[in-house]
Amino acid sequence: MPSPILPVFSPFPVSFVRGEGVYLYDTSGKRHLDFGSGVAVSALGHSHPSVIRAITEQVQRVIHVSNWYQIPEQYEAAEALIAHTFADYVFFANSGTETIDGAIKLVRQYQIHHKHPERYRIITVKGSFHGRTFAAMSACGKNTFAPDLPGFDSVPFGDWDALESAITPHTAGILIEPILGEGGILPVPLTQLRRLRDLCDQHDLVLCFDEIQTGVGRTGHLYAYEAAGIAPDVLTTAKGMGAGFPVGAILTNQKVGGCMQSGMHGSTFGGNPLACRVVSAVLAEITQPAFLDHVRAMGQWLWEELETLTKTYPHVFSQVRGAGLMQGLVCIETLDNRSIAMSLMQKGLLVIPAGQNTIRLMPPLIVTKNQIDEAVAILRDFCKDPSFSFHHLNP
Ligand code: PLP
Repeated sequence: MPSPILPVFSPFPVSFVRGEGVYLYDTSGKRHLDFGSGVAVSALGHSHPSVIRAITEQVQRVIHVSNWYQIPEQYEAAEALIAHTFADYVFFANSGTETIDGAIKLVRQYQIHHKHPERYRIITVKGSFHGRTFAAMSACGKNTFAPDLPGFDSVPFGDWDALESAITPHTAGILIEPILGEGGILPVPLTQLRRLRDLCDQHDLVLCFDEIQTGVGRTGHLYAYEAAGIAPDVLTTAKGMGAGFPVGAILTNQKVGGCMQSGMHGSTFGGNPLACRVVSAVLAEITQPAFLDHVRAMGQWLWEELETLTKTYPHVFSQVRGAGLMQGLVCIETLDNRSIAMSLMQKGLLVIPAGQNTIRLMPPLIVTKNQIDEAVAILRDFCKDPSFSFHHLNP
């Protein structure tokens, strides 16, 4: 039967009917270790009791009210985010890409407010992914639907001097992922994140971190910027924040958030009571000190195991990259990451392909050492399998 879905996805031939912890069960009853977490979404795994409780309790009270009214659940979630981050203000949206569009408004409004409307351009990094709305897509410099929206200057990843040289009298801010996720798990060195902070201070630019993939505990910090010992002016977050419930947020400081006025931004659904109850429930779990200690310990264990794997099977994987439970295995040039992901799925391990011929390992943050060992055993088994030469691009 032809798919009724717009042909923009190429799904693997599998459907899941149930999830529990780090496992997903397909229509045949087969169990899969979910090391993709729905692309870094299922931070607490599947069917987490706190998430189920928050949703079931809230749907029985009220699902939705408009931002025309004060929403206590929204204030509560925002206060939790403010208590644990640099932020003074929070704006709730429904997805990652929407938060990027909102962040772009904040950057421009900061400069307009300070009588610099000529400063409207944003510097970004080539190979980044910020989402699918037109502004977010244009920020990534992807010309699929050319022409892009104007106002973005992208520089190659890793050429930090080029980034500095890209600053002109028209620059308003810098937008960057601390670790490029879709781009292939490419960490920006912490020294460079600090340099960006200095550059923004020096030139009065707005520093925006896209933490949609790195956020909510994924790297072993609540947000990845903490590792650099600096804070951005604007941060976008989504994915893990709803642990499967669609929600996103823009966090910002007084300096930038204070430039916004009533009517400049908004959302029908963003910040409704149901979404915000889920956010509060997720944050209550992740902000327990032992939780992030666990993520760091599991991240370290996964890292060591993957390092051993790359050393043992250099004809399959060439490198491990990432932080915490956001790690990428780089497949050697002649192997195809998508077909490797497919084979691993057949062996019961779900991973997500990314740029630069990488496969991403991003298990739910509640993953245990035994489950990591189980995943690594599947990877090892795959590397040993003589039939894997099937995946060579040019056999
Ligand atoms: N930014 C980053 C870093 C992402 O990884 C993604 C999604 O993969 C997005 C933005 C877009 O988020 P969404 O798909 O929720 O719109």
